Amino acid sequence: MIYADNAATTKMSRTAIDAMLPYFDKIYANPSSLHEEGQQAAEALYTARERIAKVIGCTPKEVYFTSGGSEADNQAIISAALSGERKGKKHIVSTAIEHHAVLHTLEKLKKQGYEITLLKPDENGLVYSKEVEDAIRPDTALVSVMYANNEIGTIEPIREIGAVCREKGVVFHTDAVQAAGHIEIDVEKDNIDLLSLSAHKFHGPKGIGVLYAKRGILLSNLIEGGAQERGKRAGTENIPAIMAMAAALEEEVSHMHENAAKLTAMRDKLIDGLTQIPHTALNGDRLKRLPGNVNVCFEGIEGESLLLLLSEKGICASSGSACTSGSLDPSHVLLAIGRPHEVAHGSLRLSLSAENTEEEVDYMIEEISKVVEYLRGMSPVWNDLQKGVKKYVIQ
Ligand SMILES: *Cc1c(COP(=O)(O)O)cnc(C)c1O
Repeated sequence: MIYADNAATTKMSRTAIDAMLPYFDKIYANPSSLHEEGQQAAEALYTARERIAKVIGCTPKEVYFTSGGSEADNQAIISAALSGERKGKKHIVSTAIEHHAVLHTLEKLKKQGYEITLLKPDENGLVYSKEVEDAIRPDTALVSVMYANNEIGTIEPIREIGAVCREKGVVFHTDAVQAAGHIEIDVEKDNIDLLSLSAHKFHGPKGIGVLYAKRGILLSNLIEGGAQERGKRAGTENIPAIMAMAAALEEEVSHMHENAAKLTAMRDKLIDGLTQIPHTALNGDRLKRLPGNVNVCFEGIEGESLLLLLSEKGICASSGSACTSGSLDPSHVLLAIGRPHEVAHGSLRLSLSAENTEEEVDYMIEEISKVVEYLRGMSPVWNDLQKGVKKYVIQ
């Protein structure tokens, strides 16, 4: 089996699994308990907070553990919205290509009377800091722009966008779930006030994540109860998962440069190979792109059929994002970068990890080329295109 769906989730690393095991049956006490055992757990929890803080360039007090990327996104946005509202600010700027954890939270706020401006990226998925600047108004409470896109891999100019927000005095949140472990993140240099992470996207366990909130940014609770996470997120801490997340993040970051070089080489070979297929286009920016992300549109085929046939060949890939597959709507990201509906339906995302090999890349190019040709042979749409009844969108 070739696993090329790492943007959906990753395999846990051995390091991460080993890091969590002692916290199931040895150091299992509640870190809020005052006895010796509890205090041992509390100490472990603190070291994990320190280790994660060090990686992203903040202090341990600015790290809040959540159940994952979705919860961190929800809490960041709702907190900033409520803080803004108290100052009479009810406008939020974000982008049309955010993850649904962001977009659906914004939709909910819209129903509650907030005004939302969603910036449209350029045809490569890039959001410009100038456009963010122009969209900011005196009543803007928050800007939320993702660090890197989960579907098309485009890396946004976060540092510049953060600088604009800082200058205008607007809170800045970034969903860095896809960036963590792949590109350098420094919340100070990047001018970030709120940032979301998810462990299962960097070889850690599912169901655990981080919300970084800069000192002075007031968080609102999504979950009420005990005083965990400085009173901002109740619930007994998932220490095994937290320990594994810290270990996974440190490991990924320590191999970041060598992994990025390897992934970029495999990515570019895949892009070159797949775009040799006629009437095929790359989605996302060619250079400002996550090292392991490949996303292409093949004209005249359905992404779903492609995925099923590739699965039979032992290739695990994705079409659009995991959340959108299963529904008939094409990806909101591909539509936002200007792909017409029928073309957006024929998309394929391959997201690599450092465990993938050159041989797998060669095999994927060969098999995907064959499957695309096979599907086009049966496609009435492709037949119309070939006969000139319809015009090609991708030349
Ligand atoms: C996966 C993902 C999320 C959601 O994270 P979970 O931990 O699965 O809730 C949010 N944003 C982006 C960009 C993602 O890729």
